[in-house]
Amino acid sequence: MYQALYRTYRPEVFEEILGQEHIVKILKNQIKTDSVSHAYLFCGTRGTGKTTTARILAKGLNCLADSEGPCGKCASCLSIKEGTFMDVIEMDAASNNGVENIRELRESVKYPPAIGRKKIYIIDEVHMLSTEAFNALLKTLEEPPEYVVFILATTEPQKLPATILSRCMRLDFRRVSENTLVSGMKAICRDKGIDVSEDALRLIAANADGSVRDGLSILDQCLSGGQSRVTRDDVLEFLGTSGIETFIEMTDFVLSGKTAEAILLLSNVLVDGKDVRQFIRDWLSHYRGLLISKFVKDAADILNISSENAERLKEQSDKIDIGEINYAIVEISKTMADAKWSTQPRVLLELCIVKLSESSMRKEISVHTPRRSEPIQKHSIKEEPAVLQTQAQNTEAEETDLILQELDEGRQSTGADAKTQNAPVDTQILNRQAEPEKKMDLDLLWHRVFEDGENFKTSFNLIRSGTRLISIDDKYFFVQASNSLKLRYLKENASTLEDLMEKHTGMRRQLKCGEEGSAIPGTDGGEIPDSLHKANKSKSETDIEALKALAESELGIEIDIE
Ligand SMILES: [Zn+2]
Repeated sequence: MYQALYRTYRPEVFEEILGQEHIVKILKNQIKTDSVSHAYLFCGTRGTGKTTTARILAKGLNCLADSEGPCGKCASCLSIKEGTFMDVIEMDAASNNGVENIRELRESVKYPPAIGRKKIYIIDEVHMLSTEAFNALLKTLEEPPEYVVFILATTEPQKLPATILSRCMRLDFRRVSENTLVSGMKAICRDKGIDVSEDALRLIAANADGSVRDGLSILDQCLSGGQSRVTRDDVLEFLGTSGIETFIEMTDFVLSGKTAEAILLLSNVLVDGKDVRQFIRDWLSHYRGLLISKFVKDAADILNISSENAERLKEQSDKIDIGEINYAIVEISKTMADAKWSTQPRVLLELCIVKLSESSMRKEISVHTPRRSEPIQKHSIKEEPAVLQTQAQNTEAEETDLILQELDEGRQSTGADAKTQNAPVDTQILNRQAEPEKKMDLDLLWHRVFEDGENFKTSFNLIRSGTRLISIDDKYFFVQASNSLKLRYLKENASTLEDLMEKHTGMRRQLKCGEEGSAIPGTDGGEIPDSLHKANKSKSETDIEALKALAESELGIEIDIE
């Protein structure tokens, strides 16, 4: 009968445990100095070696050989390995969670070990016990006989009562690093005489997410065809992941607002038999790659990809605004979480594609910058932002300020680096000052407020799509509603929104809202939000000169500033 790799290659002695050196050191020392605790709590995600370590500890406490840890070869060690040692009792709390199971256990605790030195109780998934069962267990933990050691294992320690936690020595198992996992799998492959390429092992390790068991299960599946050689492509095929080209193309589509093309591409990928959830995970990693490429020059190592792929990521990353990457990561993560429990993950992914694609279309419109080829008049600038339509006469300086903001945004989205470098130094400083008030950042903040809001009030959905955060100053935040209904709802929920904004910005501000196309009442009625003044106020004479020069060279118009 075939036995799974993670069973065949289960560590038998402390030295074979992967990536938990900090725990092994403590346990070995306790065995050596005979200072073993009466109750342990092993915490950690699945597949990090909790049960394996518990068994090795049990061996160490009953081993017949005279060594620091268990020898793995004596009668006791072998018997524990086979699961036939009478004094090591394993219990799975997931299927034995009732109080009667614990009562039974308490009965057996009374009797001293039959053949070993210590009687070991290993309770797996201990957080699954019922409240009564916990109470019954607590009594035993309070005054255990000398010869008993409890080892409780759990993936969710936060679900345990404090009374249990306080009576155990807690040891936290870490996720195993990819490098450790790769070297562990290499040893197994050598032992089995199978040739698995390094990049195939790396891909497996990356997908195991720190779990040895998951890593070995994937390796197992890749080997199940019986071939003696496994390549990265074999692993890719098994995992059902797509290559980087697919994600570059998909990202390009949503960035340019090509919703239909993006959905068709997804459809083609799924026809090939790829898994939707895997696709979402991989797309998220792709965006992570884009994010990291923005900051790290040679990202091949950190992203664990070939230098060719790192180059392609970099190329795409250069074309994207950081705010867009942020927004996409938030949206895709949310889709991934929802898809986990949904029976229709594909619909969720399609919805996500539409959202991302539409957000980039909105952005394109909002950052539309007049080009030299379309000569503009001063009054046409005044009409651009809807909120400002009904404002009283603006001063010339304010108009110029608006132009500057638009130029700045235009440059961000077209990525015209050369222009920034050639611009006067003062202008560059100005651009940076305007940075925190970027439209995209406000969108993201507003988005987060709603993520939060929906947790306690699902009707928040009603206004999510019809409102926009326009600006923020020290006292107020200004929100625009698309119609009177949304406006009313905004007003009804003002205090909740103010709470949420405070939570996300760390400062209490009052909500000011208005309908699209009308002025939002400001601090003293109908004035422009303070934030729009800011850059203007801090402007020195030289800044104005630089600004003037820039506006003239960019727009081909003359501007008078008094
Ligand atoms: Zn032994």
